[in-house]
Amino acid sequence: MSGATTKAAAERGAALTLQNLTVTYDRHPAVHHVSGTLKAGSLTAIAGPNGAGKSTLLKAIVGELRPAEGRIEHGLAARDIGYLPQAAEINRRFPINVLDTVLLGDWHQSGAFGRVARAARERAQEALSTVGLDGFERRPIGSLSAGQFQRVLFARLLMQEARLILLDEPFTAIDARTTHDLLALVSRWHGEGRTVVAVLHDFEQVRSHFPETLLIARELIGWGPTTEVMAPANLLKARAMAERWDETAPVCEPAA
Ligand code: ADP
Ligand code: MG
Repeated sequence: MSGATTKAAAERGAALTLQNLTVTYDRHPAVHHVSGTLKAGSLTAIAGPNGAGKSTLLKAIVGELRPAEGRIEHGLAARDIGYLPQAAEINRRFPINVLDTVLLGDWHQSGAFGRVARAARERAQEALSTVGLDGFERRPIGSLSAGQFQRVLFARLLMQEARLILLDEPFTAIDARTTHDLLALVSRWHGEGRTVVAVLHDFEQVRSHFPETLLIARELIGWGPTTEVMAPANLLKARAMAERWDETAPVCEPAA
């Protein structure tokens, strides 16, 4: 989809709505009664302590986890949602090279041969160039540094051209130069009217690059303009909530 079309879609309002969303593991809620709207075309950070349910929330949005209660509403097809999982969940020992990894982001792909495949390879090449990895096409992904691998995954997202992009701790354990370059890509996606959400630990990053923030500690603490949501009182509340719960927290009984 072109930038202009995406922008037009963005002006129609909500990209996604959460209604009383609860997601559980063995009936223990990791995300509890969360409601709100993600505006189309917004650039949103998800912040909160460890174990706050940030990754769980993203997995529910991409459909990897089913809500125990409540709903997630969006009019998007699977290919319209780009998802970068937390680094620890990606297997880098898989024997695949850089170019083929980027090609996995191409949902138009209709076979290994012919004109379509050639066009896809050209787009993949271009995406690699954009993330500064010209010449890395044949390198096995296992031979890359953490920063280079993250660039490959961003190239794959470029290839997908998703309207909603979800990034789970994209800059954790990534060098400063790569973080800077990939943040520029995030800005570019935002400028194209895509909706971008990133789980982040670095509050400085959140404040300087993300106009909106969703602050969660299993329950929603705030969701709106970053300057309001990241107020000291809210951050204290998030920490207090994180310290209060443990694995023996009561189970959540879905409403009948
Ligand atoms: P965050 O990403 O904010 O650090 P998570 O969403 O990963 O938090 O986890 C939220 C809570 O759910 C934590 O208490 C975590 O231990 C628990 N949890 C996460 N994944 C699983 C799982 N696969 N099985 C059981 N509990 C899980
Ligand atoms: Mg997480």
